[in-house]
Amino acid sequence: MGDLKNTCFVCKQPVSSENSELNTTVNLPVCVECKSTDAEKKAEKEAFDSLADGFVCGCI
Ligand SMILES: [Zn+2]
Repeated sequence: MGDLKNTCFVCKQPVSSENSELNTTVNLPVCVECKSTDAEKKAEKEAFDSLADGFVCGCI
């Protein structure tokens, strides 16, 4: 039961303000390990898709 705001949205590991940055696309923290990785891009897309549920057609 971690605080979502203190968890990397890519790897789900606990983070602090010292070892993470805010991903402004999804407004969630991302740790330095995941920052600028393909995994971040993928998780970003997934998070964005879930936020935009019902807004974007899923025809890919
Ligand atoms: Zn991470």
